[in-house]
Amino acid sequence: QNTINKIAAGEVVERPAAVVKELVENSIDAKANVITVEIKEGGISFIRITDNGTGIEKSEIPIAFKRHSTSKIRSVEDLITVSSLGFRGEALASIAAVSQIELVTKTNGSLTGSRYLIEGGEEKSLEEIGCPEGTTFLMRNLFYNTPARRKFLKSSMTEASYISDLVERMAVSHPNISFKFLNNNQLKLHTSGNGQMKEVIYHIYGREIASQLLPVFFEDGFLKISGFIGKPIISRGNRNYMNYFINGRYIKSSVINKAIEEAYKPYTMAHRYPFTCLLFEIESERIDVNVHPTKMEVRFTHQEELFRILYDVLSECLRQREL
Ligand code: ADP
Ligand code: MG
Repeated sequence: QNTINKIAAGEVVERPAAVVKELVENSIDAKANVITVEIKEGGISFIRITDNGTGIEKSEIPIAFKRHSTSKIRSVEDLITVSSLGFRGEALASIAAVSQIELVTKTNGSLTGSRYLIEGGEEKSLEEIGCPEGTTFLMRNLFYNTPARRKFLKSSMTEASYISDLVERMAVSHPNISFKFLNNNQLKLHTSGNGQMKEVIYHIYGREIASQLLPVFFEDGFLKISGFIGKPIISRGNRNYMNYFINGRYIKSSVINKAIEEAYKPYTMAHRYPFTCLLFEIESERIDVNVHPTKMEVRFTHQEELFRILYDVLSECLRQREL
């Protein structure tokens, strides 16, 4: 069982940023609106995620760390209409298999909380403890028991930069959640959670970009698009600033890339890419998120329609700017 967990863990957890992603997604699924991410040494030796979400009942904790245990799917139908970020029930089991974890959690309204220790997939203790409502997840020493995998990690600085990018994307796509990010005890990002995406963009990308934005809003039938796109003047030489999120997930899609790039074509030189920060809400029946284990890529059932709508919405937005 332990060996299976260690092997399978590679799929979900290939680096510290993947741990942070899974834990923050869990906090979001738990309806937290304040999330703190703290890391040391690029997240290799220390990752702590604190949230004010629903918490986990003491009796549910060991179950949550079992592979393929999720509280988010109850039937086969749920598999297709799932709207929470996690649904495979793999993350906690995978992370616990290759690190040392301390979990402290309390559900809303319960008198005492719980403290749970698990190392290398082995439960160490579960006890009652006084603590605030919500969940704190402390992970230490990733891959301490799989040295071969540890060798594939990059420098602390590079791993930290992956995590920083990730937290920034989480923050900008969830402006209703207040995010704090600390790297080696230094506060790197703090968003208010007041719902204003533009404010988060300002915090992350700076004034130059925040002052060159065009708002986007579209809603019809199965699709809602909101957020901001940059004026062509702030285009750059790579796609790093072309961000979009589908039902809360940071996802790559060639159809969406193409629609964005085609819309900007009349205004930018070749090989220049715009700034975008767009939130897509698409009926989950029209998405298949099971394409890739880390859920980074999706398929759409109505590719052409999505392309056409996005292209039209962005083209119109860019045309308006010229008037
Ligand atoms: P999944 O998110 O796919 O359900 P995970 O392994 O990530 O699987 O988590 C297992 C379960 O642990 C979740 O279904 C949820 O019930 C519980 N859980 C994990 N993190 C939190 C959290 N921060 N707050 C509340 N519950 C959590
Ligand atoms: Mg999860």
